[in-house]
Amino acid sequence: MKRLVVLGGGESGVGTAILGKKKGFDVFVSDYGKIKENYKEVLILNEIKWEDEKHTESLILNADVVMKSPGIPDSVPIVQKLKKNNISVVSEIEFATPFTTALTIGITGSNGKTTTTSLTYHLLKSAGLNVGLAGNIGKSYAWQIADEDFDVYVLELSSFQLDGIETYKPHIAIITNISPDHLDRYEYKFENYINSKFRITMNQTEEDFLIYDADDETIQQWLKYNTIKATKIPFSLQEKNKNGGFINNNIMEMYINEEEFTMETKSIALEGKHNLKNAMAATSVAMLMRIRKQTIRESLSNFQGVEHRLEKVLKIQNVQYINDSKATNVNATFFALDSMNAPTVWIVGGVDKGNDYSELMTLVREKVKAIICLGVDNKKIIDAFGNVVDVMVEVTSMGDAVRTAQHIAEKGDTVLLSPACASFDLFENYEDRGRQFKQAVRNL
Ligand code: ADP
Repeated sequence: MKRLVVLGGGESGVGTAILGKKKGFDVFVSDYGKIKENYKEVLILNEIKWEDEKHTESLILNADVVMKSPGIPDSVPIVQKLKKNNISVVSEIEFATPFTTALTIGITGSNGKTTTTSLTYHLLKSAGLNVGLAGNIGKSYAWQIADEDFDVYVLELSSFQLDGIETYKPHIAIITNISPDHLDRYEYKFENYINSKFRITMNQTEEDFLIYDADDETIQQWLKYNTIKATKIPFSLQEKNKNGGFINNNIMEMYINEEEFTMETKSIALEGKHNLKNAMAATSVAMLMRIRKQTIRESLSNFQGVEHRLEKVLKIQNVQYINDSKATNVNATFFALDSMNAPTVWIVGGVDKGNDYSELMTLVREKVKAIICLGVDNKKIIDAFGNVVDVMVEVTSMGDAVRTAQHIAEKGDTVLLSPACASFDLFENYEDRGRQFKQAVRNL
């Protein structure tokens, strides 16, 4: 019997353990932190051995294969020891894929993964395919393979999951864009992070496809100096490509494998230029999967978007409140500001991940009438924009942020929460921050 050790007892860890058990592995789950009660119950119910708040080396170093959850960095001692012992350490995607015959669509990138993954899923599901949604999103991929299995999976893949693949290849891959993020896990080298994202295509063959943002300099540079086997499907807001997507004067034009699809951008439910990119990426997948044009059109026009991503909350006294709490880096906030078409009161701040705010300067000058800094340390934001906007206020609670915004905003304005920062100084996570924003707006 082969021994599977699972490091981390969260969603992907427990899912992998269940699949491993079902496939006849001797399974052991070890978590250095505390495993949540509901997951403990699942492990007990499935007669899977586990430990938490420690790593017992004698029970781990005898593994044939180890699945490491994405939250655990390579640098922790137990992972280093496993590697020294030449024990294969893989991610959930790598471990689970051999146990399904499903076709997979893998989606990575610095921003837009969740939106593009959800939209792609919506398109395929609306077309009647037996499709699952997994990866960084919702229920564990391995768990779904163990429980029900689907014909197709749309997978949101972070760079951490891609670091743990050896043979996995998606039939269709998407790289939405690449900008510096999570550099703390990549020795502060942007280059390492870029290479990690491109692992999504390393095992692809001539029968596979790579869809990507052709306007992204980083992606273009990498493709110039590296060869890939998959067929390239670029999308762009700037130039037409033979096989790919383009926005031509408010018309989305797609040409893929001799097929053509066009749609007026105003009929696409998601707003903002970045979302046109996400829409072109998802439509490319739908066309490669030969989904009917009518279904694509309907799905793009009725997709409701994802919570905390430029989510319209309420209009109060003709002021629109928008929750973009998921914007945890400058690039995401860039597109949020870019898509504003009214004078904007901008709520920004939190834990700075080495932000360079200069990229936002032009947009802030053009669109922002007031800045509300919502963070413990707002110095960088004040230094960057203090001379650019007339009104700048510092607050330390969401209630104060929203009430101050209401006070400043006039009829026709927009209040935008798009923090460009992580949330851990004042909130549990970005979801908590977004929910508090929505609650505070409802309380006005
Ligand atoms: P991810 O899952 O990669 O974090 P999300 O879809 O959750 O991406 O979006 C994260 C943030 O980035 C949101 O603020 C969203 O509005 C913004 N965003 C979405 N798509 C893009 C894109 N293609 N380029 C830049 N920013 C984007």
